[in-house]
Amino acid sequence: MIYDVVVVGAGPAGCAAAQSCAKKGLSTLCIEEHGTIGYPIQCAGLLSVAAFDECRVSQHSVLNTVNGARLISSKDNALHFDAKKTKAFVVDRGVLDKEMAIAAADAGAEFLTKTALFDLNSTSVRTQGIHGKREFNYHILIAADGPRSTVARLMQMKRSNIYLAGIQADMKFDMDLRFVEIYPDASPEFFGYAIPIGIDRVRIGLCGQTNVMERFNAFRKKFGDVFTNLVTGTIPLGVMPKTYGNRTLFVGDAAGFVKPTSGGGVYTGVRSARHAASVAVAACSQDRFDDNFLAQYEHRWQADFGDMLISGLRFFKLRQQLNSEDIDRLICAMNDPDIIEAIIKYGDMDNPVPLIKKLMRNPSIFTVMSTLMRSRFRSIFKEQIKSV
Ligand SMILES: Cc1cc2nc3c(=O)[nH]c(=O)nc-3n(C[C@H](O)[C@H](O)[C@H](O)COP(=O)(O)OP(=O)(O)OC[C@H]3O[C@@H](n4cnc5c(N)ncnc54)[C@H](O)[C@@H]3O)c2cc1C
Repeated sequence: MIYDVVVVGAGPAGCAAAQSCAKKGLSTLCIEEHGTIGYPIQCAGLLSVAAFDECRVSQHSVLNTVNGARLISSKDNALHFDAKKTKAFVVDRGVLDKEMAIAAADAGAEFLTKTALFDLNSTSVRTQGIHGKREFNYHILIAADGPRSTVARLMQMKRSNIYLAGIQADMKFDMDLRFVEIYPDASPEFFGYAIPIGIDRVRIGLCGQTNVMERFNAFRKKFGDVFTNLVTGTIPLGVMPKTYGNRTLFVGDAAGFVKPTSGGGVYTGVRSARHAASVAVAACSQDRFDDNFLAQYEHRWQADFGDMLISGLRFFKLRQQLNSEDIDRLICAMNDPDIIEAIIKYGDMDNPVPLIKKLMRNPSIFTVMSTLMRSRFRSIFKEQIKSV
């Protein structure tokens, strides 16, 4: 038998791709190396309302809803945004992924768990696992196998070389359930976070490139001693130069579709999967599996969120140049009712770039930025300000 589509990986991107393909009548097989879909969890579970909607699931996975955030500097200066309505869901990713897999299976996709891809050629994959060694033929392969994509490695596809290590834990701590807290100083390359997941429960973590465990241990002390559910994971930043080829479409983390400003990858991952499924449906109906045809996948995701990823990577690089004092000065400059109102009005977790660009045009923020530019960031800020 030849499957129309084989999907490798049953994370949100893989499940969304499998569901959309099966729903359109394509014979679809989804292969997952772990026994239980959704586990181990490697995610903080903070999804914007749009990202959550994109997953097309019930509210079963929702642990909490949040209305805004507090951005807290090393000197305890804080910016507080309260949209007074739900801006994001905090979910249990294990429950969410499983529900997405069930939806895909209900649409007709077959699932093989405890089965890992270990080899492939241009029309079949070889797997090993609970059913021994097997081979599956396909017309189109959708690589949704996460940040360390085996498919990308086997196909010798070039990938971005920026990876962040993430580490988080759930702790007993009393915080306002309505707000996420962001601590830029907890990780000089990125930030630390505290996300309320229920009464007296908080999920705290950080991402970075160096000394991540040490920084995490220092950061978590703010929240007490006892922690459960220690999670570690990898976040790839930067899209691979070519996201298709050899009958294969790369989606989600496998392609590097993570927002460089937040490390969130569910929204872009699921959207990329829906684009890949549309292209797979067209390819199967027209019997066209050549690279020229599959290139339309890249046009689709680029038109959807490509600019945001490119600008986001610039802001990621810029953020790395800011020290605690710079961030404190920026937070103080932004602590103005008009700016906060603009953040609440225009802030979009899935695409923060337009807001950041808008803020950089604000006179008081511009003054702080210009001072920084005159000192040690001349070339970086010049690049940023040119792009605004
Ligand atoms: C600490 C941390 C916190 C995060 N917090 C957030 C957040 O709050 N919000 C957000 O949007 N994003 C967050 N992310 C990012 C988010 O988890 C990912 O972007 C998202 O899971 C990507 O989905 P995916 O389906 O592309 O890949 P994954 O979820 O990684 O799924 C890939 C699947 O492929 C399987 N697989 C891998 N190799 C093989 C193989 N050879 N054969 C078979 N199966 C294979 C894996 O087992 C896995 O199930 C976080 C990441 C980390 C590390």
